[in-house]
Amino acid sequence: MQRNITTGLCLSLLLIIAGCSGTEKASQKVPISDTETLLSYQNSITENFLRHHLSIFAADSMEGRETGTPGERKAAEYLSEQYAQMGLIPVGDNDTYYQHFDLNTTQNDSIIFETYTTTGEEKSIVSRSVASSQSTADYIRAFGGTDSLNGEIIFAGFGVNDPAREVAHLEGADLQGKWVMVFQDIPHVENGDTLISSSVDNRSRFNAIFGAGAEGILLISDMSEAEFEEAARADQSAFGEPSNMQLAYLDDGNSSGQGPFSKGYNMISPDMAAQMLNLVGGADAIRDYREKILQNIKDFSLQPLNYSLAQMPYTSKNSIRTENVLAYIDGSDPELKDEVVVITSHYDHVGIGQPDSTGDRIYNGADDDGSGTIGLLNIAHAFHKAAEDGVRPRRSILFLNVTAEEKGLLGSRYYSDHPVFPIENTVANINSDMIGRIDEEHEEQGIEEYAYIIGGEIISSDLDSLIKAANSRSGQIELNNRYNDLQDPNQFYRRSDHWNFGRLGVPFAFFFTGIHEDYHQPSDEVHKIRFEKLSKIVRTMYASTVLIANADQPPAVDNQQFIEITKEN
Ligand SMILES: [Zn+2]
Repeated sequence: MQRNITTGLCLSLLLIIAGCSGTEKASQKVPISDTETLLSYQNSITENFLRHHLSIFAADSMEGRETGTPGERKAAEYLSEQYAQMGLIPVGDNDTYYQHFDLNTTQNDSIIFETYTTTGEEKSIVSRSVASSQSTADYIRAFGGTDSLNGEIIFAGFGVNDPAREVAHLEGADLQGKWVMVFQDIPHVENGDTLISSSVDNRSRFNAIFGAGAEGILLISDMSEAEFEEAARADQSAFGEPSNMQLAYLDDGNSSGQGPFSKGYNMISPDMAAQMLNLVGGADAIRDYREKILQNIKDFSLQPLNYSLAQMPYTSKNSIRTENVLAYIDGSDPELKDEVVVITSHYDHVGIGQPDSTGDRIYNGADDDGSGTIGLLNIAHAFHKAAEDGVRPRRSILFLNVTAEEKGLLGSRYYSDHPVFPIENTVANINSDMIGRIDEEHEEQGIEEYAYIIGGEIISSDLDSLIKAANSRSGQIELNNRYNDLQDPNQFYRRSDHWNFGRLGVPFAFFFTGIHEDYHQPSDEVHKIRFEKLSKIVRTMYASTVLIANADQPPAVDNQQFIEITKEN
């Protein structure tokens, strides 16, 4: 319904323009989807536009835009107002720019730790401590521990089996249902001697211990008691705030299944560890004991301790409503307008949290992903300017600002499961996250105008050549393929919102300028953004969108390996 109104408006504008510009132009009659003409609207992508809007969007008043907070709501309203001013079509719920959805949140309220001595059947409590936003305990939950856990404690030295070096610290007892206490480090090389093979790492140790059915791991660090207490205080912020958000429609209520790791993985206070090991002198005594074991690392064997630990997490469940923001430009070609190019960015960030050394607690997310979000807004503005002059792409464009990316790509997942336009008609996704800074490597090389591209050629050779052609006629940035590898162990191609399109077989291109020292810090602020570079990347994204939207054929997915990977999902 709204589409027709806009079509009518654009057509009448076109007639006015044509009518005003005299006979010469009227006889040539510029086609309303002309690619060259559309590309010329990249001039509406400017440093001024980007600086103006990003200064507002990443200001402290947006409170870090965390999903489920007033700051996020304010950011969504800001975007929606901008789209309304441009007159873009609202394709969200009830003709708004919002696509609402519900998230279930779990809040960690506290964890109770009870340490017992055990002699035979006798059990008596040694210590009961509570980790919460108000208090610290004898243990710090490093991760996992979503189940109530209870078991005897066994000391396993460095917790490694390394047959090549004749080290067997996990041999000799059943680990089933036990807490396994180990030194945090693995002493691969000490004083030039190789003690443990480099192939034995934290991951293999972790797998060996939990593979044997252990209840949890207790790590003895080299911290002093005071340092441990400081770390425990820093961890207090993990309590009393909603965490672990899940899409309500995907939540089966079974948090220990697909959800976070349910077994225990804790740091233990040096004083408590020393007591269990019968050592007098806390952290110092532990250090001496570690040395002693190192001297005869092959002779160490498992030591049952007369202690047990019960760990009981208390959580509360809640539900919040949040929203993606979406706006639409109708294509001009009757044959192709049902096909849509989706441009995405995530507008949420991580909110207010731990202060940095300057006392700043607001995580502004100017680069992450203010840069991509305001870039997208500027692209919308360029298409809007063109549409005002009666020039529109052949295919339609959806501007999609997703939320809850920082909570696990939840907003893009929701959209991809509840698409406003059918996924079969979604010809490509252009995504950007963090495109306003320079990483260390490029800083050293003195290269400012670059972007990493993920997707593109590893999915679709058409998409790759469209982006290269677009770039040469717009931003002319260096397109860096470094992370663009389906074999990449980091699997960057799965790590942002584009993957929710990719998993359904939609070709995507992700623009990214790399990690920097302000990543997820309060110092990710607008004055550090390189606007000239940002504007060039945004022009390349705009031009790429134009070429995709105007191509005779949508980009074909032709990389067999990518096709295989998406089949697995
Ligand atoms: Zn991000």
